[in-house]
Amino acid sequence: MSTESFNPYRMAQEQFDAVANQLGLDEATRDLLRVPDREMHFNIPIRMDDGSYKVFRGFRIQHNTARGPGKGGVRFHPQETVDTVRALSMWMTWKTAVVDIPLGGAKGGVICDPHNLSPREQEALCRGWVRQLIDAIGPDRDVPAPDVMTSSQHMLWMLDEYEHLTGRKAPGFITGKPVGMGGSLGRTEATGYGVIYTVREALSELGLRMEEATASVQGFGNVAQYAIDLFHSYGGKVLCVSSWDQTAQEAFAFFRKDGVDLKQLRSMTNSYGEINRDKAAEAGYTVLPGDAWIEQEVDVLIPAAMENQINRDTVKGIKGSVKIIAEGANGPTTPPADAVIREKKIWLVPDFLANAGGVTCSYFEQVQSNMNYFWTRDEVISKLDTQMTDAYFSVSQMAHRRNIPMRDAAYMIAIARVAEACKMRGWV
Ligand code: NAD
Repeated sequence: MSTESFNPYRMAQEQFDAVANQLGLDEATRDLLRVPDREMHFNIPIRMDDGSYKVFRGFRIQHNTARGPGKGGVRFHPQETVDTVRALSMWMTWKTAVVDIPLGGAKGGVICDPHNLSPREQEALCRGWVRQLIDAIGPDRDVPAPDVMTSSQHMLWMLDEYEHLTGRKAPGFITGKPVGMGGSLGRTEATGYGVIYTVREALSELGLRMEEATASVQGFGNVAQYAIDLFHSYGGKVLCVSSWDQTAQEAFAFFRKDGVDLKQLRSMTNSYGEINRDKAAEAGYTVLPGDAWIEQEVDVLIPAAMENQINRDTVKGIKGSVKIIAEGANGPTTPPADAVIREKKIWLVPDFLANAGGVTCSYFEQVQSNMNYFWTRDEVISKLDTQMTDAYFSVSQMAHRRNIPMRDAAYMIAIARVAEACKMRGWV
């Protein structure tokens, strides 16, 4: 882990400023897009199971809605900060724009650790979050979704509270619902699969064969597991994964030279994506320190855990074999590490493109919920592949044409689209 002082909001603003200069944006447009449109910070008081009361701090931050209703997840995390939520809301604006779906950018969070909350306490937190925001969210205003440590069950509690308060059915209010209760087939796997669609196209552009490709993945939660699933089904091999260990309060990496066995690892992983160290060692995995995932001799690195993981310290560990980094997590690479990656000429698929499969499928879910007519899994997955592949190529073509990194190209496309929408509406 790095000791580098890190503020994701500052990083998001620095990235924005650099692209605003390249695009020659006027001052008013910069002032508008550099900070969120609207922020809500509030208390959520909960009666705990032991009869005591506890007050949790919640947020919803809407960065921009020029292209459509706000869209973004709700995170339950003990170290949540307002600046993290601000940065993530901004990245959502760029993400929905880069994959060209008619939605804006928002993000929410609650400072809490669901490990220490009973299901009833978590339900109360979800309902309290919606009650505090009832005037600011809704299918045509701002549409929440699951994110770190929130699940389809949390979304359904939130939907139920919203429908109680508004007195009508509104399945398009929230996405990530359970299938059969307004959820879309394919949503669970969408983010991880989306990462691999971009890896597939990147490998092919670099003239590499998927069947011979190797990868190392940080994290073993939703995104990582489905990324590994599709990578394996295309014939590639994931040699190393890492995960957090709540008891030890540190991360560990799990290596197997013949490739990890996804099904077996899942059987020894809890619902928070934490792999049981003893069971993994018994099953023949070499257990290494958490940062070892980045030090593997592989073709592809997929950070799919948290922000700030490829930083000034860890970037030094990247081996010469690495040709592609696909950012499954949000904000995993700090600007100093990004500069090193550019120098090494590693083809980096930036987070808001690589992990946009989730929001793309959330958009499909919202469309289906609003129509009350649901597509088959094959239809959803094939639409997802088309949307992600088109987005990948529009970014890679711009990167090749201007000889710039993929991150810059993705930002230029996204920010230009949002700036144009603001202009057309007469906002700036
Ligand atoms: P998750 O909670 O399901 O899994 C997180 C995983 O990361 C777990 O395996 C956990 O053990 C691991 N982890 C946490 N800290 C770690 C550390 N220091 N080192 C190694 N492993 C660590 O979360 P997720 O839904 O898979 O999301 C992962 C990342 O992807 C987040 O940055 C999230 O914002 C982003 N993301 C998720 C989605 C989605 O649809 N789930 C969409 C877009 C972006």
